[in-house]
Amino acid sequence: MRVFIASIATETNTFAAAPTGAGSFSVERANDPENWEPDNPWRAMLQSLAEESCHEITVGLLADAQPSGVVVREVYEELRDELLEDLRSAMPVDAIMLPLHGAMVADGYPDCEGDILEHIRQLVGPDVAIGVELDPHCHFTERMRSNADIVVAYKEYPHTDVIDRFKEVWQLTLDAAEGRISPVIEMADCRMVGFWHTNREPMQSFVGKMKSMEQQTGILSVSFGHGFPYGDVPEAGAKVWVVGDDNPGAAARLAKSLRDEVWAMRDDTRPEAIGLDEAMKRLTSVNDQGPTVVADVADNAGGGASSDSTFILEALREGGLTNMAIGPVWDLGAIAVCREAGLGARLMLRVGGKCGPLSGLPIDLSVTVRALEPDHRQSILGAGSISCGYSAWVSTDDGTDLVLISRRQQGYATNLFTDLGIELGSKHAIVIKSSHHFYADFAPLAADVLYVTTPGLLRSDFENIPYLHRDMNFWPRIDDPFRTD
Ligand SMILES: [Zn+2]
Repeated sequence: MRVFIASIATETNTFAAAPTGAGSFSVERANDPENWEPDNPWRAMLQSLAEESCHEITVGLLADAQPSGVVVREVYEELRDELLEDLRSAMPVDAIMLPLHGAMVADGYPDCEGDILEHIRQLVGPDVAIGVELDPHCHFTERMRSNADIVVAYKEYPHTDVIDRFKEVWQLTLDAAEGRISPVIEMADCRMVGFWHTNREPMQSFVGKMKSMEQQTGILSVSFGHGFPYGDVPEAGAKVWVVGDDNPGAAARLAKSLRDEVWAMRDDTRPEAIGLDEAMKRLTSVNDQGPTVVADVADNAGGGASSDSTFILEALREGGLTNMAIGPVWDLGAIAVCREAGLGARLMLRVGGKCGPLSGLPIDLSVTVRALEPDHRQSILGAGSISCGYSAWVSTDDGTDLVLISRRQQGYATNLFTDLGIELGSKHAIVIKSSHHFYADFAPLAADVLYVTTPGLLRSDFENIPYLHRDMNFWPRIDDPFRTD
């Protein structure tokens, strides 16, 4: 079999002010893999197919960008056209595999993935099998459904199963290409906006149930797309879809029954988020059994935030709390100052609060530059590592450690801190700018984990998000969005 693999992926926060332009995308041109970064996550993805070497695999454009605002139209069109040109060069192919995100929005393109799939379908015709892997924080659209044969979302959040699902997409797509299955995709809309943590109940069991349903005759794959709350597009929201084998009725019935289960669990699956005052109360009262991990969910770069807000840092300082670790703080100016001052320098440093009102005000700290690292990297969900760019560890005089980075991204792993030399086990609290992906790596050392809401781009009051394009009949804005049916 001749198989083509390519990707353009980002998660667009349509409320973010900063556009996603050409400089935001890291692009791997696969004809040239020896020049990839050694720990590039794409390597792990492609190596997972190593045992499939009996097939002829051509890898096309692989582009991804840290979430931010709407993608610049020309940038999206150029990337899409390059991917299509790579496909044209690889043709004829029997199957196409696309690890995408599912929530990319470009100027004039509310559904980039649907647009990519439609172009590919037009190019290769109806007989080539197209398989797609999506992030569950996707907008699963009719255009995606009708132009792909197989669509599978990761089941876990934190996304610890990217490679497992990728291998499933591979197998199902080849099965379709070789005529062993006749996939049909049926979807049920949950009419909900939210986040679903799958490492705790009842979602843990629900993931188990989805997997057990895949053992049923005629059911090939079950996905729960959580949706991305900060993408304001017509088809946004949580959805369940089922890939059935030549039996649309059974697939539709299962999608609807699992949708009803997601709906029934709504109050138990809502992640707990507390305000800053409550967080300060808890941080002040805990005895140190180990660090309390504080998730700064509103400032998660992984959802398009700037990762430089100072609301929590300000509250910690006002509350007189010390012995903290905080990161990653995206602050190019502060890093430039630290580089200029040099290792060991003591200086007044203005940190954070640079990107607008949702970042809060900059804070002036007396610090020592403890580490400078030109290419600091952090692990990413067991699938390689990503560069934080030039990074610095600075310590305040009263014992708070900050990690400053120059490539904006969320905090995934403890080595964001420890590889710079920061010891985490004895900290009173670790403030991590992330909504939930941090959990897998930080939970083992945490005495407690607090999800804290502050002003910021990733607000937790979904009912008040000022959508202009999506259907407003959704929970929790409407108590029962199914009432009118
Ligand atoms: Zn996601």
